[in-house]
Amino acid sequence: MHPFPLEPDRAAMTEMGRLVLERVVDRTENLAARPATSALSPRAEADLVESFLAPPPDRGGDLKVLLARLDQAADCALETAGPGHLAYIPGSGLYSAALAEFYNRAVNRYGGLASVAPALAALEESVIRWMARDVCGLPEGSGGLLTSGGSMATFSATVAARHHRLGEDLACGTVYTTAFAHHSVAKAARLAGIPAARIRTVPHTPDLRMDPHAAAAMIRADRGAGLRPFLLVATAGTTDTGTVDPLHQLAGLARREDVWFHIDAAYGGFFRLTARGEERLAGIEKADSITLDPHKTLFMPFGTGTLVVRDIAALHAAHDGTGSYLQDMRAAGSVPDSGQLGPELTHEIRGLRAWLPLHLHGVDAFREALDEKLDLAEHVHDTLSGVAELEVPQRPDLSTVIFRVRPADGSRAAAERADEASRRLLERINDHRRIALSSTVVDSRYTLRVCVVSHRTHHDRIAEALKIITAEARRHTTA
Ligand SMILES: *Cc1c(COP(=O)(O)O)cnc(C)c1O
Repeated sequence: MHPFPLEPDRAAMTEMGRLVLERVVDRTENLAARPATSALSPRAEADLVESFLAPPPDRGGDLKVLLARLDQAADCALETAGPGHLAYIPGSGLYSAALAEFYNRAVNRYGGLASVAPALAALEESVIRWMARDVCGLPEGSGGLLTSGGSMATFSATVAARHHRLGEDLACGTVYTTAFAHHSVAKAARLAGIPAARIRTVPHTPDLRMDPHAAAAMIRADRGAGLRPFLLVATAGTTDTGTVDPLHQLAGLARREDVWFHIDAAYGGFFRLTARGEERLAGIEKADSITLDPHKTLFMPFGTGTLVVRDIAALHAAHDGTGSYLQDMRAAGSVPDSGQLGPELTHEIRGLRAWLPLHLHGVDAFREALDEKLDLAEHVHDTLSGVAELEVPQRPDLSTVIFRVRPADGSRAAAERADEASRRLLERINDHRRIALSSTVVDSRYTLRVCVVSHRTHHDRIAEALKIITAEARRHTTA
């Protein structure tokens, strides 16, 4: 086939589009049958990786051949989009969002300054306001920024908090979070110029939530020592266990101690669309800023995160900047310039990939899907709680269930043997290639997690997962 020119004609565009669409539809249709983890041998995987390190050729190639190569690369992976992905926090990737993104990239409108494409900027703002006000319950005057993910959202929140509370004198600023906070919280603080030694780990209560009394004591002790506490970061749905920190109490503490209150709801935030989620995330509306990750619990493609803030002016004050080359740009109207709210200037209209699915499917479709995840997680909890060989330490707040092999007795040696047995159990479960689970450490114990987030995971796959887990747990001689 003749290589396609940089600017293909209508027939060529249509042909190229058809080839890509066919691939994608085939892949998507077959997701349920695909292995949950890569089926390649380590040797085959290494060869494939090596082949993809080659530089591009001078003369173009055949699209069909290239797409077949892409499929090989995509197959050499954890199947993050499939129904069996119960590891980490799944990102399932809506088809409608992919189509929106294709349109978006082909039209290629500028997203850094609102006046360049004002209606599309308004479309993006509508998505942000929906997340800030309808999803999180923040008041008028709230707003935010679409980011590439939760880490970037937390980074901009930290910069805003720092600017607002510390000005330019960073040296004595201190940050408070727990051992279960996502590592992006400490990373954001370091990137924002806060020394690692000023990032405090607040103890947690036995149910793995931040202890507000301990947080209060630490803040007061630091202030007494001449430091400047400026940021308290709670988690609404920890990555490890899906646990929600006591948001009301922590909001009260932040207010009394006059520190910025950020909530990392990258995983948990969108569950507020459901009745159970609204109850469990009560207090989220008191935050100064909130991290959300549409690429997790709104099923968007990776690269879709959000920061919402109570007071958009605080975010703006920390991030604004301009240059004389921008003097021809009209001042923005009611829609803020996203380039003045975060570190990036040029970027795509990020809101489009959320706007189209939200308008096409309606909010209820997302609410129902998230409700289903909560049901499935409760079912996992109840079923695994009935397996004598397993220990299920807590009821899930959201859609993550943790479990591990039950130790023979309370001794340290028995706990170590159980940890080893749990490690082998995870391998055996994942070796089925129907589901992928992951592990973490909870209170020094090796712990497995089932995290139900994909919009493609339904009761049939969870029933199969429970059969596999139960059978493998029973095959074990208990530690
Ligand atoms: C995933 C996650 C993050 C990090 O978000 P990225 O989108 O991966 O950058 C932060 N916090 C929590 C609670 C998360 O689950």
